[in-house]
Amino acid sequence: MRLSRSLVPTIKEIPSEAQIASHRLMLRAGLVRQTSAGIYAWLPLGLRVLRNIERIVRQEQDAAGAQEMLMPTVQPAELWRQSGRYEDYGREMLRITDRHDREMLYGPTNEEMITDIMRQSVKSYRELPQILYHIQWKFRDEVRPRFGVMRGREFLMKDAYSFDLDRAGAVVSYRRMMLAYMRTFQRLGLRAIPMVADTGPIGGDLSHEFIVLAPTGESQVFYDAAFDDIDYLGGEFEHGSAENLDRFFSLMTTNYAATDEKHDAATWDRVEPARRREGRGIEVGHIFYFGTKYSKSMGLSVTGADGKPVIPEMGSYGVGVSRLVGAVIEAGHDEAGIIWPDSIAPYRAAILNLKPGDAACDRMCETAYVGLAGDAILDDRPERAGVKFAEADLIGLPWQIIVGPRGAANGAVELKRRATGERVEMPLSKAIRACT
Ligand code: ATP
Ligand code: MG
Repeated sequence: MRLSRSLVPTIKEIPSEAQIASHRLMLRAGLVRQTSAGIYAWLPLGLRVLRNIERIVRQEQDAAGAQEMLMPTVQPAELWRQSGRYEDYGREMLRITDRHDREMLYGPTNEEMITDIMRQSVKSYRELPQILYHIQWKFRDEVRPRFGVMRGREFLMKDAYSFDLDRAGAVVSYRRMMLAYMRTFQRLGLRAIPMVADTGPIGGDLSHEFIVLAPTGESQVFYDAAFDDIDYLGGEFEHGSAENLDRFFSLMTTNYAATDEKHDAATWDRVEPARRREGRGIEVGHIFYFGTKYSKSMGLSVTGADGKPVIPEMGSYGVGVSRLVGAVIEAGHDEAGIIWPDSIAPYRAAILNLKPGDAACDRMCETAYVGLAGDAILDDRPERAGVKFAEADLIGLPWQIIVGPRGAANGAVELKRRATGERVEMPLSKAIRACT
């Protein structure tokens, strides 16, 4: 992206409407713009981050054996009457009437719709288990939308739904999703901890919220430091083997972790004092086993091996994809701006041309831009060096290749790592290699 011809409307001033760092930085770095309360347009840089997060979420869902599909945002009210949730959902649901006076709604979630699709499509026990997911916009008319994309009204969610023949199968699906989540969050450079959440009338221990630690989070959290050291990508845990999943799940549930709602002082007292961690956190995901709640009320059943009807056991699994953009920034920023993890940065590097119009500088910048195959922001604007440095730090790409007339004359540039601030002079070709 050539900055001179791109929509990256950065802001120098601190936006007064934003209360937390991620919201301020998303506005200041030109990632999003609010179009109505709690509703945002994603500008080119913000969209690239959103897409990168989606890609990682998708890869890990696929690896867990879930199948991607896409359900619409607008749903018929009729489906929600069948599950009994139409009235219950209350004013958070955006209700719409079409030209034929049919009641519709903008989906806040998709349990009803997926259950309807499955009841039309699967007939036999041989077709289960299955897990389906989609990444789709949701609308919830939140009382108090705030913190930018963290608590929006329109937001992007990955929601998955599992269908199993019995509870034992549902437990395996649940654990598999939990592992997929831990791998996803680690790849996003986040420390997320699964914390036991309310299961409502179903009971049991099969509901977890995934909490990312950040001082501005909405929940108070307590956890065992053991969670800090686990490598979920290391291959020790695998989706394939039920035994490994078992070991993974017991590790997740024997180490203490709870939000204030579920905090239990007596159990906490038994955690070794040196391992007690306390802080605030952001909920980035939620997984939930709910048995036959929807399959039963909506009439989903398949023929079992013995010819008798079986009512599938279901679970649902949500990740706040757009909220994660905010959460990643809360976890990775400094005074100067955002510090993107390599895995989801909108581009790898910023190329700062400190003297546009200088033949050597222009040439080296073009070489760098081509060398990075366009996976870079080329700051080719006729701005002062100070402005370019400040905006590059604000936007927060992992690397900066700084091209000034003195170095350019000798084929040298400065390579800066955004996270550490370290700057090293080197030949351009070496800088390009370091970034790729
Ligand atoms: P919260 O407790 O934060 O209101 P929830 O429990 O209502 O969330 P779920 O129904 O579990 O949310 O949705 C799954 C995920 O979607 C959440 O873990 C969160 O990451 C994300 N999410 C929920 N509501 C919002 C919102 N208003 N804006 C952005 N993301 C959201
Ligand atoms: Mg929740």
